[in-house]
Amino acid sequence: MNGAPVRDIVVVGGGSAGWMSAAALATALASGDGRYRIRLVESDAIGSVGVGEATIPMIQRFNRFLGIDEDAFLRATHATFKLGIEFEGWGAPGGRYIHGFGRVGQNLASVPFHQYWSAMRRQGRAAPLGDYTLSCAAARAGKFRHPDPALGDSPLADVAYAYHFDATAYAAYLRELATSRGVVRTEGRIVGVQQGPDGGVAALRLESGERVGGDLFVDCSGFRSLLLGETLGVPFEDWSHWLPCDRALAVPCAPAGSLLPLTRASARRAGWQWRIPLRHRTGNGHVFCSAHMSEDEAAATLLSHLDGRPLAEPRLIRFRTGRRRVAWERNVVAVGLAGGFLEPLESTSLHMIQTGIARLIAFFPDAGFAQADIDEFNRQAAFEAERIRDFIILHYHLNTRAEPFWRACAEMDVPDTLRRKIDLYRSHGRLVRVGDELFAENGWLQVFEGQGLRPERDHPLAGLRADEDVAAYLEGVREVVGNCVRAMPAHADYLRG
Ligand SMILES: Cc1cc2nc3c(=O)[nH]c(=O)nc-3n(C[C@H](O)[C@H](O)[C@H](O)COP(=O)(O)OP(=O)(O)OC[C@H]3O[C@@H](n4cnc5c(N)ncnc54)[C@H](O)[C@@H]3O)c2cc1C
Repeated sequence: MNGAPVRDIVVVGGGSAGWMSAAALATALASGDGRYRIRLVESDAIGSVGVGEATIPMIQRFNRFLGIDEDAFLRATHATFKLGIEFEGWGAPGGRYIHGFGRVGQNLASVPFHQYWSAMRRQGRAAPLGDYTLSCAAARAGKFRHPDPALGDSPLADVAYAYHFDATAYAAYLRELATSRGVVRTEGRIVGVQQGPDGGVAALRLESGERVGGDLFVDCSGFRSLLLGETLGVPFEDWSHWLPCDRALAVPCAPAGSLLPLTRASARRAGWQWRIPLRHRTGNGHVFCSAHMSEDEAAATLLSHLDGRPLAEPRLIRFRTGRRRVAWERNVVAVGLAGGFLEPLESTSLHMIQTGIARLIAFFPDAGFAQADIDEFNRQAAFEAERIRDFIILHYHLNTRAEPFWRACAEMDVPDTLRRKIDLYRSHGRLVRVGDELFAENGWLQVFEGQGLRPERDHPLAGLRADEDVAAYLEGVREVVGNCVRAMPAHADYLRG
C-alpha cells in the first residue's frame, strides 16, 4: 500500500466510546480544508449500555483536550465531584477503606512516606493511612474544593479529583460537541459488513439499504464487537477464571443523605454493589457471579440496599470479562466494550476509552496501515489492560470473608505479575510501578493495606530516623490534613456554588 491519507473515518456506535472517539478525532484531525471526514453510525433501536458514570482524574485531561468548559459540563451532565472510592466489607466483613486519589502523606527522607508510617504503626504510634491523605479525609467529611496551585506545599495545592456524571447526558453532550465540529451522524441499524480484497472492512450496509464506506473504522459497537470480533474474527481472551462476576443489575434511586464526593463499592455475598451520587439521582448497581447467586436474589439484595426510592426497575446487563486478543486489526480499531471489558470496580473503562483514542491519534495511520505501528498500538493496549486487570483481581483475592464465592477468590491462582507485587509488599512494604501502568504506588498501597495485607518487616532504612522524630513528623502531617479538611467547603454547597 502507500502513504496516501486515510480520508473517510467511520465510527460504529454512539455510546460513550463512540461519541468520545468522534469528538476527540474531530478535534485532533481538524484541518480547515476538510481533509478528513468523520461519520458516526448508531442505532436508536439497539441503544447503548447506559452505564459508566464514575471516572478517575485523567478524564480532566480528555475534557481539556476537547476544550470543554468545566462548569457547563458539570451542569449538563448533572455531575458531582469524586475524590476516591470507598470499599466496604472487602478485606473482611465490617471493614472499610478509601482508595483516594492523589498523594498519600508527605515525603520525609530517603524512603517513601508509607515506610515510616508502617514502622510507626508496628509500634502502635500511627493513625489509619487515610488520616494522612487529603482525598480520603475530605471524602469522608463530605468536603470538596478545587486545587489551588498557589498554595505551594499544601495538600490543597494539588487536590486530585474526578467526576460522577449521567452517562446518557455525557454521550449527548459529546454528540453535540462532535457534530458541531463536523462529525456526521447517521441513525440506522447495521445489517451487513462488506470486506475488501485485503480482508479489511470496506463498507457497512444499513437496514435502510444505505451503504457507508470508509478507509478506517473505529468499532465502538459495544459487547457485540461487530467489526473486530464478528467480522474480522479476532478471538476473545477470557479472564473470567480470575474475575468470575458475569452479570450486573443497575437501578437509579432518588438521592438521599449527604452528597459525599466518593463512589462506594460494597461487597455482597457473591459480588458487590456500587453507589454513584449524582445531583439529581443516585446510580446503583449490583455486580454478581451467576454461578453463586440467582438474578432474583441479586435484585432483592440490590433493592434492599438503596438509600432512596428506586426510580426504575433493575436492568440486567450480562458480560464476560476479558479482551479481544488485539484491539487493532487491519483497518479496524476497537474502542470501548467492543475491545473488552473489566468490571467497573476502579472506574477504569472510560479511562481506557480515552487512552485508546489517544493511542489511535498517536499512531494515526495513512493508507499503508504500517504493521509496526499496529503492533505497538496493540502491545500498549494489552499492557494497560493486563495491569488494570491485576489491580482489580487484587481486591477480590486478598480477603478473609467466609462465603464460598469469596473463598474461591482468595484461593485462586493469580497472574504472576500480580503475585510479584503482593510478594514485594508483603516482604518489606515495597511498591514497584512497572512502566507506565495506570495505577501508581499510592493506589496499590491503599488497596494492599485496605484489603489487610501487612509488610512482614520494615524497610531497613526507615529506622535511620529517631522514632520520636518520625512520630512527631507523622502527627504534623495528620494535623495539616485535618486543618485542610476543616477549611474546605461541604461538597453539596460547593456544587450549588
Ligand atoms: C455494569 C457496568 C457498569 C459500568 N460502570 C462504569 C463506571 O462506573 N465507570 C466507567 O468508566 N465505566 C463503566 N462501565 C463501562 C462503560 O459503561 C463503557 O465502557 C462505556 O459506556 C462504553 O460503552 P460502549 O460505547 O463501548 O458500548 P455501548 O454503550 O454498548 O454502545 C454501543 C453502540 O453501538 C451501537 N450498535 C451496536 N450494534 C449496532 C448495529 N448493528 N447497528 C448500529 N449501531 C449498533 C449501539 O446503538 C450503541 O450506540 C460500566 C459497564 C458496565 C457493564
